[in-house]
Amino acid sequence: MRIDPEDIRICLEDHPARQPGPESMATPIVQTSLFAYPTFDEFVEAHTAESRNYVYTRGQNPTVEALEKKLAALEHGEMCKAFGSGIAAISAVIMGLLKSGDHILFVNHTYGPALKLAKTLERFGIEHTLLLDLEPEDVTRALQPNTKLVWLENPGTMMFRTFDVAAIADIARKHGAITSIDNSWASPLFQKPIDCGVDISIHSATKYIGGHSDVVAGALITNAILMDAIYQRAFMLHGGILHPFDAWLLLRGMRTLPVRMQQHHADGLRVAEWLRDRKEVAAVHHPAFCDRSKTLTGYSGVFSFEIANGGFNEVRKFIDGLKRFRIGISWGGVESLVATPTRADNVEYLDSQRFPHGLIRLSIGHEGADQLIEDIESSFDSM
Ligand SMILES: *Cc1c(COP(=O)(O)O)cnc(C)c1O
Repeated sequence: MRIDPEDIRICLEDHPARQPGPESMATPIVQTSLFAYPTFDEFVEAHTAESRNYVYTRGQNPTVEALEKKLAALEHGEMCKAFGSGIAAISAVIMGLLKSGDHILFVNHTYGPALKLAKTLERFGIEHTLLLDLEPEDVTRALQPNTKLVWLENPGTMMFRTFDVAAIADIARKHGAITSIDNSWASPLFQKPIDCGVDISIHSATKYIGGHSDVVAGALITNAILMDAIYQRAFMLHGGILHPFDAWLLLRGMRTLPVRMQQHHADGLRVAEWLRDRKEVAAVHHPAFCDRSKTLTGYSGVFSFEIANGGFNEVRKFIDGLKRFRIGISWGGVESLVATPTRADNVEYLDSQRFPHGLIRLSIGHEGADQLIEDIESSFDSM
C-alpha cells in the first residue's frame, strides 16, 4: 500500500483562504442561500460567470468550494463539482454530455442504480450496453459508431474484478468517446484515474470520503471543457447540489481519510485472506488476489466471497448468524456491513449479471480484524 505524502497534506489542511491573524482550524460553514453585492455592476459581472463567483448557493458556495478544491487536487484533475449524492453526479455526467441517439458502453459490473438510470434514459433515445468481458479486444468489439461515453468501474461492483484502466481509456479516446470512472471504491487515495487518461472521475462521497455514515454526497472531477458542459446543462439546471453543512461534514471526514484507508486496507486483506482458507468458502473476490488494473496503490475494505454450494437459504442463515456486522446497503463507514444481491426469487437477475448465488459482500470497518473474523467463524459454525 502506498499513499502519496502530498495527498495526506491535502486531506489534513483544512483552511481555504489564509488570512493574517489567528484563524479557525476548521473551514467555516457559510450557511447562506445567496450573496449580496455592493453595486449593481459588480452583481452583473459576477452573475455572468456564476460558476466562478459566489452569487447563489445553487451555483457556488465557499464551504462547498473548499471541498471541491481538495478533491480536484487529490484526483489530479482541473475541476471538481460536488453534488447532493453520488447518483446526482452520475446523472449530471450522462445528461450533461449525451443526447438522443448516443450510446453508453458500461465496462465491468456497474453500480446498479447507474444501470437503472441508463434504462430510464432509453425513453429519451439514449442506448446502452453492459460489457462484462474485460479484455481490451472485448471493449474494441463492443464499441459502436454512436458510443459517446464509456463508463468504467474499477474494481467493479459486487465481484470486484479489475481491468487495465489505461488501455481501455486509450481505446475509448481513439474511438472519440469520453471516459468516466466510478472511483468510489478506491477513494482518491488509492487510484488516480485521470493520470491514466480517464476524462471524468466520479465518487459517491457517501462512502469513504465521508466515512462516518452520516452524509449522502457525490462529486465529479474533470477538465475545464467537460466541466463547463456539465455545469451549464446538468449542474445548475438539475439542482442536485451539496449543502454547505454536508460539505463541512465531508471536509471533516477527509481529515482522517488517510488513516482510515490504511486501516481498511490492512483489515480488509486480513479478513479476505482468512476467508480464503475456509472450507465453507468457494471463492473470495478481493482485487488483491487478481489485480489486472495496474492502477491501485492500495485496497479499500469492501470485497465479496461465495458460500460453497450456497444459495438464498445459506446466505440468509450466514447473514443472520453475524453479530458484529450490521445488515445494510451502504459501505465505507467505520462500522462493518454485510450485504448480498441474492434474494429468494432473483436467480434470473443473478445469472444475467454473472453473480454467483451464494455471493456475500462485506465492508470492513474499524472494529478490528480479529473481532470480525471471530464473528464470521461463529456464524459459519452455527450454519
Ligand atoms: C453508493 C454508490 C453510488 C451512488 O452514490 P449515492 O451517494 O448513494 O447516490 C455510486 N457508485 C457506487 C460504486 C456506490 O457504491
